[in-house]
Amino acid sequence: MTCSRIFLQVMFLLIGNSSYCQEAMCGFQYMLKKNTIADPSIVDKITEVNRTLSQPDDYVISAVARENLFIPVVVHIVKSESDRYISDEAIFSQIQILNRDFNAKNLDLNTVPDEFKPNISNGGIEFCLAVRNDGNSDKAGIIRQYTDVEFFGLNNNLYYTDRGGSTAWDTEKYLNIWVADTGESISGFGSYPGQTEAYRQGVVIHPAYFGENESRRYNLGRVAVHEVGHYLGLNHVWDNNGNCDTDDGVFDTPSQQSSYTGCPQYPQSTCGSNDMFMDFMDYVDDDCMVMFSKGQVARMITVLETFRPGLIQMNGECLSLKENSVEENFFLHPNPIRGIVSVEVSENTASVKQVEIYNSTGKTVFSEKIVFRNKMTFDLSFLPAGIYFFRAGKSSKKIMIL
Ligand SMILES: [Zn+2]
Repeated sequence: MTCSRIFLQVMFLLIGNSSYCQEAMCGFQYMLKKNTIADPSIVDKITEVNRTLSQPDDYVISAVARENLFIPVVVHIVKSESDRYISDEAIFSQIQILNRDFNAKNLDLNTVPDEFKPNISNGGIEFCLAVRNDGNSDKAGIIRQYTDVEFFGLNNNLYYTDRGGSTAWDTEKYLNIWVADTGESISGFGSYPGQTEAYRQGVVIHPAYFGENESRRYNLGRVAVHEVGHYLGLNHVWDNNGNCDTDDGVFDTPSQQSSYTGCPQYPQSTCGSNDMFMDFMDYVDDDCMVMFSKGQVARMITVLETFRPGLIQMNGECLSLKENSVEENFFLHPNPIRGIVSVEVSENTASVKQVEIYNSTGKTVFSEKIVFRNKMTFDLSFLPAGIYFFRAGKSSKKIMIL
């Protein structure tokens, strides 16, 4: 359920441009409906996914006690001028938030009422920044793309680099998260298994709600936690039809008639039992959603094994979240060169750095996020002869191309 445009327009007429309903909501149902209208066969696909994942009331979890599964993440920042600047540190922080919340390491977990404490999952799914080898170098899973398209996050052009968006890395191997303007009514959306074609599989987050941020309700980076939940096969915890007839397919989340917003007082009851409104898959404020249930994590693990197995096979490398923690100093040799230059860094650990090469007039001729290792090579044969500056992080070296 989303704060629809019609609703927004009506509210605007009724109460003017107040903050009411300026608060965006999850666009999962809206996008599901939109996709289903465009391709009715999606209904059958999703019914089949739900049938596979459905847990009976006495479902016993045997799959969760095992080594954690790792999902490599690539983040596409598709930014217009008015969007908030998102640093690399904010991207690392968002990934750490995913790891914290998916593994019950959040301190606010102690606010879960005693009734639901036995339902808290220990986790078992972790996220890391993806790395992909692009021939010469290892490219880090941070892609920055500028756009002047409004509400780009709802537009299919978002998924094409040649249309001003950013083409996904192989969606069978990587979780793609696009950070793009989804308009004022949608905070983000995650694609349910079977919901879209492969090139659109992933999660889209409005820049205002990415990572820890200044927004009133979604300030703790949990829009991404909720949307990745959808991407891994979770439904909202309430009955989408507003009654108690349908279920989210998870055995240990109680039936719930409708969503909660804000931060309700416990207990709240519908459908004959107390509601688990503090679950990440409800609509409460970020500082009031604190848990996934055991059944929800079991469902996500089943999705990974059944519908998204390539994600956990770790074809690519997963990078530890370090930025600029290594020694800035590096050496280029030989210098002058013709062709391939070697780069040596004294530190042994890999880190992500922005590598830029600019010419003597200051024009950038190369710019990419690279995984910086202690020994690397760059093929610079594409550059005409001349003096250049090779910058990694904050330091740069002069190099002459013959
Ligand atoms: Zn949602």
